Amino acid sequence: MKVHLVNPSHLSFGVAVITPRWLYVLAAATPRSFADPIISDETLAPLELSRIQRGDTVGIGIHTGNALRGYEIGQLARKRGAYVIFGGIHATLFPDEARRLGAAHAVVTGDGDIVWAAVLSDCARDAPRAQYEGGRVQGTALLPARWDLLPADRYMWGSVQTVRGCPKHCSFCSVWRTDGQQPRQRKPGAVLSEIVELRRRGFRFIALADDNFYPVTLGDLSSASRRKDMGRLRELQSLRDERFELMEGLAKLPRDMVFFTQITMEAAEDAAFLNAMRAARIQGALVGVESVTPEGLHAVHKDFNLTGSELVSRLRTFRDNGIHVLGSFIFGLPTDRPETFMATAALAQQAGVTFAQFVMLTPFPGTVDFASWEKKMAGDPTRIVGIPLTRHWLIPQEKKPKVYAPHPSMSAEEIRQRTLGVWNHFYSLRLVWERSSCVRSLRARLAFILISKLYRQMYANTGIATDSARVNRSARWARWLAKPCLRLFAADPMPDLQEPV
Ligand code: SF4
Repeated sequence: MKVHLVNPSHLSFGVAVITPRWLYVLAAATPRSFADPIISDETLAPLELSRIQRGDTVGIGIHTGNALRGYEIGQLARKRGAYVIFGGIHATLFPDEARRLGAAHAVVTGDGDIVWAAVLSDCARDAPRAQYEGGRVQGTALLPARWDLLPADRYMWGSVQTVRGCPKHCSFCSVWRTDGQQPRQRKPGAVLSEIVELRRRGFRFIALADDNFYPVTLGDLSSASRRKDMGRLRELQSLRDERFELMEGLAKLPRDMVFFTQITMEAAEDAAFLNAMRAARIQGALVGVESVTPEGLHAVHKDFNLTGSELVSRLRTFRDNGIHVLGSFIFGLPTDRPETFMATAALAQQAGVTFAQFVMLTPFPGTVDFASWEKKMAGDPTRIVGIPLTRHWLIPQEKKPKVYAPHPSMSAEEIRQRTLGVWNHFYSLRLVWERSSCVRSLRARLAFILISKLYRQMYANTGIATDSARVNRSARWARWLAKPCLRLFAADPMPDLQEPV
């Protein structure tokens, strides 16, 4: 029995930015008694179906965005006589859907790190169960990935997870409900040894692919101390100490290494943490700004963020500490007005944000927003190719509406157009050139422009274009830009690199 692992995608770019970690973690979870899994990442190239034979097992990991393509693959694989197993956040939320539409023999809910071996052994004896509960695997049991199976010259960044779960509870995000609010941290040594392996293979850019790299804030510590909850205080302090230990280790790695992570804005008020990040060369962070108005933040349960001049200064603090911010903004909140769009673009530029993404509010399953929207939509008669809007991920790409929740004053098309306008403005050559002053040499500035344009092509046009012709054109451009970008990130392998002591 051969084992296949598939990351579905309806668009392939030939090269990709970040290594899809879950594929290589499940490869590590595959017992050596089976041959090495055959890994297909469709963001690189479409799956070669002919490699799947009767009796093989095909593991397909899906999130809401690629569920439909995943189901297509599931059906094709089952027709070829393979066992079809679904996992990932979306399958965890909708196991019956994966069975009905994806022809799944079995669904794995939660983390696959431990339970995957049992799934394979059941398939090998022709007796897969309908469901396996992977649960939430403790930080110390999270597996390092099988990076030895990575294809050469395909990915720009390596990826390593250091912590899973997030203590916050943003209404548009499913992470805290699926991965839990209790941070599950891996031990610094385990993380470092994986990073060293990636550097040995020539990756000097590494994404610390965490839900939230800053799981303990100064506010959490002082509130535990105010409550005189010494047990909780010790627990939080120990999580924090481990973060510092990890960053000390990163600082000892080769000087050409650069890290990127995802973090909440509160980290900017923690001078010691920012210093440690700078020393560790964590030079980029995705920060969820979401909205620049207090009403907007309240609407998404993110009141811990700031607005106005305080927001600008908080974001600038990252920049002043050598950390480039990829700001993430949401449009289409009920509190948004036509003037919110350009005000957001102006704030992003003023705050010195290096990259930005502007996404349209979409109720994703597993979130608080989705639950209340689904309830509100219960009597809605709208059907697109027979599918209700509350199952929007099942609508074919070219027929998908771009905005789902009716806005009190703007039409869906107006929100889409204005959002696209902000992408165009923020990534205009003039502003990209201005922002490129964050690097020194002319070569680096040109590289910055190339990467900015690639980012826009990959995430703006393919995400919010209305028709498939535009999506395809955009994907072609992205493919064309991606090749030279890959060369910018690659480094000579360091096969003899030792782990820091
Ligand atoms: S959006 Fe970020 S901060 Fe909010 S719950 Fe999700 S991971 Fe946590």
